[in-house]
Amino acid sequence: MSISEMIQARKELVNQVLEVYPEKAKKNRRQHLAVKEEDCSSCAVKSNGKTVPGIMTARGCAYAGAKGVVWGPVKDIVHISHGPVGCGFYSWANRRNLAEGEVGIDNFVPFQFTSDFQESDIIYGGDKKLEKIIEEVVELFPNAKGVSVLSECPVGLIGDDIESVARRMTEKTQRPVVPVRCEGFRGISQSLGHHIANDAIRDHIIGKGPEREIGPYDIGIIGDYNIGGDAWASKKILEEIGLNVVNIWTGDSTLEMLQNGHLVKLNLIHCYRSMNYMANYMEETYGTPWLEFNFFGPTKIKESLLNIAAHFDDSIRENTQRVIAKYEAQMQKVIDIYRPRLAGKKVMLYVGGLRPRHVVGAYEDLGMEIIGTGYEFAHKEDYERTYPQLKEGTLIYDDVSALELEEFVKDLKPDLVGSGIKEKYVFEKMGLPFRQMHSWDYSGPYHGYDGFPIFARDMDMAVNSPTWKSIKAPWVK
Ligand code: SF4
Repeated sequence: MSISEMIQARKELVNQVLEVYPEKAKKNRRQHLAVKEEDCSSCAVKSNGKTVPGIMTARGCAYAGAKGVVWGPVKDIVHISHGPVGCGFYSWANRRNLAEGEVGIDNFVPFQFTSDFQESDIIYGGDKKLEKIIEEVVELFPNAKGVSVLSECPVGLIGDDIESVARRMTEKTQRPVVPVRCEGFRGISQSLGHHIANDAIRDHIIGKGPEREIGPYDIGIIGDYNIGGDAWASKKILEEIGLNVVNIWTGDSTLEMLQNGHLVKLNLIHCYRSMNYMANYMEETYGTPWLEFNFFGPTKIKESLLNIAAHFDDSIRENTQRVIAKYEAQMQKVIDIYRPRLAGKKVMLYVGGLRPRHVVGAYEDLGMEIIGTGYEFAHKEDYERTYPQLKEGTLIYDDVSALELEEFVKDLKPDLVGSGIKEKYVFEKMGLPFRQMHSWDYSGPYHGYDGFPIFARDMDMAVNSPTWKSIKAPWVK
């Protein structure tokens, strides 16, 4: 099939899948689905719009974006899930943002703190209860450097004033108490939660840390949540080239790292979607420059290291060349083992706001081809960064519904699907190799030179598992 025939066939597939929807939903969803063409005149999808009701989106809410993603990983702050028990319970320790430290002493990441709203709190308001809880937190966990209040849906609906509670308790407890208005009804996905969480750091945290000199090689990593140790793997390389990683936002991070995020020579941003707001703010307010980078797979790591080194002096540039050369040999060994087992395999992705484009290079290093990709909650600028990375004919889907993704996968028959926990078992029951691309399927890290061999091994393990030969019973013709 020629490329133009393939593009045509995929466009027809989109039309076919849309046929099941009522007219209004069909019209809406059509704008979110496209096929990559050379000049991309028609491949731009609409994004960051409200989900069509009832179509089984994979999206989460603003609370997930604020508590689950941005605030939750900050280890020496106690994060209160403020509202009924559910949201904090379901988001309890299931995002693998690893943190070092003694649990309950200076690391509260694995805990669930909640105000556990009852009917009386809905009727009379939860502010007094919140005040009492913050007092208890400080008494029981005296090393907690601060408290964040992550609002769940009811808080904003019943007229509570968590801002004034936070002001009073900041004074009383002599540590920052940060109100975060991330009720899940706000916005249309996790994305607004990221923005609200960034704004809370801007309004309550940044610039309020202990003073310190900025060393010539001090840098910060912004938007790495240390899933399975990713941020540690990234930090290791940056330190090997001679830079000094003083802050990470927010995997394994501390209050002080957030307070002093601007006191660096350069901020490196991995997850643009969730933290571009603060990166921009630090640049505008404190003049701290920032740079996007990608530490998935040796090609992108090398490209990123050279870009980063260009911001520093000759010693860093020389170190960078040496480090790249050292690891190139090691990475080649990984490629020699796994590429013959994976080359030519087709992959479909569906993740949140960064990985649907950021992991493409790592798959390509292994000779694999991305034939479909899409985001839950990306914005226009994310898709603009994505199109150039994709081959012609790649199917692009924004906020894809469960039905659409299933139908696309049935038709395109990829050798591997990379997506989330809600998708995993559906596709495995179809007999398709699947890797979780949020949690790394309890493996990782995937970032950096330490991560790539693990990534390659995991993809091989999924694609070439003997299990797939046993999907069909031998007596079924
Ligand atoms: S939408 Fe509301 S109730 Fe649901 S998880 Fe988010 S904050 Fe909680």
